[in-house]
Amino acid sequence: MKTNWDLSVFYKGMDDPAFAADLQALPGRIDALTALIDAPQADDGKKVREIVEELERLSVFCEPLYMMVMLTLSTDAQQPQADAAQTPLNRASMAMAQAESRFSRYLASLPDLDAIIEGDEVLRARGFVLREYAQKARHQIDPVLEGPVLKMQLSGGKALSELRGKLEATLTACYRGEETPLATVRGMAYDADACVRRDAYEAEIACYKKVELPMSVCLNSIKAEACTIAGLKGYKDVLDMTLSESRLTKQTLDAMWTAIREALPDLRAYFKAKAKLLGHKNGLPFYDLFAPVGESTRTYTIEEARDILLDVFGRFCPEMAQMMETAFDEGWIDVYPKVGKRGGAFCAGCYDKNISRVMTNFTGSLSDVSTLAHELGHAFNNRMMTRMPLLMTEPPMPLAETASTFNETVLSAQMRKTASREEELMLLDASLTENTQVVVDIYSRFLFEQKVVDAQADHALSVEELKQTMLWAQEMSYGDGLDPEVRHPYMWACKSHYYSTGRHFYNFPYAFGGLFARGLYARYEQEGEAFVPVYCDLLSRFGSDTIENITASVGIDVTTPDFWRQAVGSIAEEARRFAQLVG
Ligand SMILES: [Zn+2]
Repeated sequence: MKTNWDLSVFYKGMDDPAFAADLQALPGRIDALTALIDAPQADDGKKVREIVEELERLSVFCEPLYMMVMLTLSTDAQQPQADAAQTPLNRASMAMAQAESRFSRYLASLPDLDAIIEGDEVLRARGFVLREYAQKARHQIDPVLEGPVLKMQLSGGKALSELRGKLEATLTACYRGEETPLATVRGMAYDADACVRRDAYEAEIACYKKVELPMSVCLNSIKAEACTIAGLKGYKDVLDMTLSESRLTKQTLDAMWTAIREALPDLRAYFKAKAKLLGHKNGLPFYDLFAPVGESTRTYTIEEARDILLDVFGRFCPEMAQMMETAFDEGWIDVYPKVGKRGGAFCAGCYDKNISRVMTNFTGSLSDVSTLAHELGHAFNNRMMTRMPLLMTEPPMPLAETASTFNETVLSAQMRKTASREEELMLLDASLTENTQVVVDIYSRFLFEQKVVDAQADHALSVEELKQTMLWAQEMSYGDGLDPEVRHPYMWACKSHYYSTGRHFYNFPYAFGGLFARGLYARYEQEGEAFVPVYCDLLSRFGSDTIENITASVGIDVTTPDFWRQAVGSIAEEARRFAQLVG
């Protein structure tokens, strides 16, 4: 087994001459694509086919460059050559975005686009994305303005987003008299010692005072810019733009929120039961949301984690277990924390080589085992999508977290089957902690962001208004589940998701993916093995249709609350079981 990932499949190293040569060749390749789009041609069918083939070739060419730089920096933030390559890669992304806009306008200008697509086998296999390109032309910034606007964003919203990242990275909290990195202090929310959790929470809340003013400027400005961009693209508002880019309708989003709102009282029962278990009278204080419950001191070595995953997923789908084995054997995973490596975990796929790379910060907790299952779920999704043409392999945000959450659900359900009563309480709590975040906390984030976006038409919100709006959103979602005296008025400063310039409302996709995965797992429980090939086929199609059509293809109607009621209901049922075990 290898515990450091192997990047030599992309380049021999950052000083590989092939890397420098490819990086240098990239702008010329994009210029050539642009010229191909602009060049007049008598046969449009032939021209579209040439552009599509060049688009995919260019993607394959770019993959190793982006993978090499991004992966190198994530385990070695200061790596000089990778750091220096970021600027040319950002410029290339901008040029690529403009080339794609040109392609959109060209496709939209073809009166016989449908006939062209249907008349060519290669184009037919990419029909959905080509039609989507053509539709996007209706929602583009005026070509005269597009270049300058994209450039201004680099020094506007994108710069503020970077500033926010730097403010967070350099922020320390005074924990028990010692200046401590914020990430370390936030990690103490999982500590077994109640006093540690409370002191860490107080240190965290106090430290945001140091950055609240610049953070509030970043947040207001990024959302104000989003309103401007939505207007320039001809969308009704920022949510309308986000939904369109997510291939999702407002009706479906509302159906999900309806079911979630209905289930809130049942879900709050979990927080109340956990509060009771931990000896609180007035609901759960915010600092105990992640408190471990029961005998959760068991730790796992990476070998044990691998054996559990191979066993659990081997019983679910042999092809997935096989891929996991390859991942452990062939250096797909960078396992352990180290100096200069970033926090958290992620998975990145390389279509052309049919491989993924997974970063984790494994320290041996059960939650770390679950994270591995999650990231390898993404890797399996990547693998299934290589069954489709490259252009059809970009899943929209709400589907992107489905395969990962599904794996967490499989792991948790399997482990509970053989657990003792004490272990069951601990596993149930771990599952509920996750799932209530995905539903209850995400609902509060959506409500908050909606208010902040709407406010921009009138004025930028002051720090005090942002804090009050956050507390209001937490009241609407957590209600009496949380102690009203001990909440988190600074969650808007804590979560980086609010500050992304490319993805607004980066919250509802988590609820969507999490609940959709539960719905799929319920199907697996009913249908057993017969569901596995259906599931694999479904994953392969995540980038090739609207969400409503993809889900309908496996008999799930996401447009009305019924499906969502069942999915949220299964979490509420776990909450009831937890309350019962607590007694
Ligand atoms: Zn994920």
